[in-house]
Amino acid sequence: MGLIIYLDGKFVPEEQAVVSVFDHGLLYGDGVFEGIRAYHNRVFKLREHIIRLYESARTIGLDIPITMPEMEEVVLETCRRNGLRDGYIRLVVTRGRGDLGLDPRKCPNPTIFCIAASIQLYPEELYEKGLELVTVATRRNLPEACNPRVKSLNYLNNIYAKMEANLVGAPEAVMLNQEGYVAEATGDNIFIVKNGVLITPPPYAGILEGITRNTVMEIARQKGIPVEEKLFTRHDIYTADECFLTGTAAEVIPAVKLDGRVIGDGRPGKMTWELIHAYRELTRVDGPVIFREDERSMNC
Ligand code: PMP
Repeated sequence: MGLIIYLDGKFVPEEQAVVSVFDHGLLYGDGVFEGIRAYHNRVFKLREHIIRLYESARTIGLDIPITMPEMEEVVLETCRRNGLRDGYIRLVVTRGRGDLGLDPRKCPNPTIFCIAASIQLYPEELYEKGLELVTVATRRNLPEACNPRVKSLNYLNNIYAKMEANLVGAPEAVMLNQEGYVAEATGDNIFIVKNGVLITPPPYAGILEGITRNTVMEIARQKGIPVEEKLFTRHDIYTADECFLTGTAAEVIPAVKLDGRVIGDGRPGKMTWELIHAYRELTRVDGPVIFREDERSMNC
């Protein structure tokens, strides 16, 4: 059965969910988006995703014509219309239909759509064994050119990096910034653990400030684990005790090798596992409820 898609104020069957070939999201990657997860009848960190969407839109000068609470409701209602309690949600706002020129002033009405679908989970084996990463030649976008903090539809930079990883059969790439410091993976943030301290690149390294990243730092602080946001190099990953990636789809996933060098003892580390479990616990209780009746029946 096909999905029900939210598109510009209406819920329509997926065959009818079509956007114009003149949409600047398609022509120029001119737009912003979020990837969000639903777990156990709740939309995880929904508020945080909506805030990031509106902040990205503000930076690209895109006025989203509905309010943040209305956008939250769009996400929840799209889940309801699809009977979705667990899954992956893609929320997109493009500059909208314009002419063939670049000028965003020619696009009076942004296009908004929301897809709520089931998710293809990474095999549990990947979490148990850990990923083997490679550093790629493609550098992360310069913040002064195309700021990685904006979650825009322009992902070509990350796609180039993914292609390089594919070429050598690696599941993920480590991207460096223009100065050669570690930035992030193609769709995930990166952490290392060294002498009990959790370290991740700061936003000014040229990264997307992942919501999973922020959640993991918060969990760690609550557990009394020292957390540092600081610049580091590949050498720091080679010599780290542990390494893992974070992202909405992958959650917290261990990495055990970089460029053929074994990280730590080559197995997912103790702190990584502690954070994986704590993160999974949090997904059970965080975020607004999708189907209220489920909640009521659970309470009685
Ligand atoms: N970096 C990039 C480039 C990404 O695309 C993503 C996924 N949205 C992330 C990091 C992780 O962000 P989040 O935890 O919000 O999914």
